[in-house]
This record gives sequence, structure tokens and C-alpha cells, in this order.
Amino acid sequence: MSDYLVKALAFNGDIRAFAVDTTEMIKEAQRRQGTLPTASAALGRAMTASTMMASMLKGEKNKLTVKIEGDGPIGVIIVDANMNGDTRGYVSNPLVHFDLNKHGKLDVARAVGRNGHLSVVKDLGMRDKFTGQVPLVSGELGEDFTYYFVSSEQIPSAVAVGVLVNPDNTILASGGFVIQVMPGAQDEMITFIEKRLENLDPVSKMIEAGHSPEQLLHNVLGEENVKILETSPVQFKCTCSRERFADAIISLGVEEIESMIQEDGKADAKCHFCNESYHYTKEDLEKLLTEAHEENNG
Ligand code: ZN
Repeated sequence: MSDYLVKALAFNGDIRAFAVDTTEMIKEAQRRQGTLPTASAALGRAMTASTMMASMLKGEKNKLTVKIEGDGPIGVIIVDANMNGDTRGYVSNPLVHFDLNKHGKLDVARAVGRNGHLSVVKDLGMRDKFTGQVPLVSGELGEDFTYYFVSSEQIPSAVAVGVLVNPDNTILASGGFVIQVMPGAQDEMITFIEKRLENLDPVSKMIEAGHSPEQLLHNVLGEENVKILETSPVQFKCTCSRERFADAIISLGVEEIESMIQEDGKADAKCHFCNESYHYTKEDLEKLLTEAHEENNG
């Protein structure tokens, strides 16, 4: 079944909630990048949280980039997501795997590192950008996104994200939810939700058991309290193309392209996000060189 995201309100609008199944999205990311299980979990959690964060954007062309830079062996995690549900992401070192942690879960904090920061750049069109950055609080990522919402956007939130991996390293289940408390919400309701969150199964387990995004929210908030507002597809989607990489080569400038032609007689580019390769022959490069000359003169 294809992945989708739901947006909901609960308790007469005092709670805003999001839930998403990203199993197919993270399957595709894992397949393309060959990530080992702990790296897959880190990437999957980051992509899942970013997908939900992007669905909160208003304005059609808006998108965001999440960058997580910890001091763990995975290096940097980069995720691009837009409000159409298109998400792509990568980690600098996909070949990271550790034994399960003491809770029997993939040890994401060890892969990401506990020191570092999480930053979000929202591209709101018209060259309008919003940047928020917070220090990492645990490296488990769910808690780090929670802290980001609370600290950078001043929205009390609970973020749960999880990924389960098969013995052959493919993805078994992935997804998450975000619960946000709007101003004026009653303390009793917040306590009610906190209690339910404490007794909840891990989100990846619920998805593995076949729970839909709607059901995830029912489990957290109580079915009678939830009003689903919107359902929309989400997917792994990369924006790279042969033309975009050609533009990047042109922007290197005349001298750089001339030396590529003389030294290698070709150029190869690989997209970090989707692992697609693009090859440019000497003739291709000569065309790009002409364009670079024209740009200089124009
Ligand atoms: Zn790509």
C-alpha cells in the first residue's frame, strides 16, 4: 500500500496532530543508498519527522531542509521535504550499524552522536527564509525534533518516529506522529495525553501491526476525540536531473570546465540523495563550456 499522511484536530482544536506511514519511502531510500540498519533507522526517523514538518508549511511552493550534525559515525543527515509530500534524504556514512541498545532498539543515538545540532531552513518563496537551530538533546531524533518544536517554534509537541528493519537490511515498517498543543489547552487534557503516550507501543511496532496513520492518532488521543482533516500521499522523490547537474558544472566557470576537458576528458556526477549517476562526455563538456562563456559575456 502507498504511504500517506493525515492531519487532524482533537479536543475541539486544542490539539493539532499529524501521523504518517513512511514504510515505502524509507524502503526506497534504503534500497538506493544501501544503508545498514542503524543508519537506515536514523535516516528513516529524520525523513519521517521532516515529512510531517513539511506538511505544516502553508504556501504551495514552500519546502524545507533539515540538517542534523552530530558527533557520531554517521556524519551529517540531510533531508529535503516539501508540502506535496516529496521527501529525499541521505547520511554521509550509510554503512553504520551497531548492536541493539538496552531497550532492544536500533542504537540511533550512537550512530548520530549526542553532541551537535539540528537545524531547519524553511524556504518560504520570494527569497524568504526561516532558519531555526537547536542543540541535540539525545541523538535519538524523536526527542530532538520534539525539542526543536518546543524551543525554536514555541509549540509544545510530542514527536514519535520509528523504523523497523528486516534481517536482510530492507525496511519492515516506518512512520511516526506529531501531537501539538495549541495555546489555551486545559492541563487535564495534556495529562490525559501524556498518560496515553507513556503506555503506547513504539510507533514502528504499531505500523508493523498494520495500524494506519488514522489509527495511530486514535491510539494516542482516543478515537472519539480525533477529527481527521486531510489525507495526502507522501513519497521518496528526488529533484535531481541531468540538466540540473549540467547547470552546476556551468556554474563552476570556464577555467574549471577547461581543466576537466583537458585532464579527464569527461565528468561524472552522482546524486547524494538518490544515488543516480550522470555521465558527461568530452563533447557534452565542450557544449557546457560554450554556455559558461556565454554566461560570462551575458
Ligand atoms: Zn537525485
